[in-house]
Amino acid sequence: MRNREMAGKIIIDTERCKGCGLCVIVCPKNSIVISRHSNKNGYFPAQVNNINCTGCAMCAIICPEAIIEVHRDNNIAAVESAKKDRPSLIEEKA
Ligand code: SF4
Ligand code: SF4
Repeated sequence: MRNREMAGKIIIDTERCKGCGLCVIVCPKNSIVISRHSNKNGYFPAQVNNINCTGCAMCAIICPEAIIEVHRDNNIAAVESAKKDRPSLIEEKA
């Protein structure tokens, strides 16, 4: 079996999402859409399908709310945008 493209997974804190759509625009794999259902603040949040996600982290970097967490397979790394100033690279345990 040949190696597949690196897979990724993102987690969006949808209750804090403002529905700006920047992550949708920047995702090269069309892995994010805007939900039809509003969150508790009345915004239509980003929703992820994760099917084609490569873990490139572009969505986490552009998100003005810093609410997207990115995980990559092979336990290489996780990018967390919890900090407002810039995303930080942290090691992920196996
Ligand atoms: S990590 Fe990259 S491929 Fe995955 S959802 Fe975000 S922008 Fe798209
Ligand atoms: S960029 Fe952030 S705030 Fe904007 S829609 Fe995506 S997750 Fe929500």
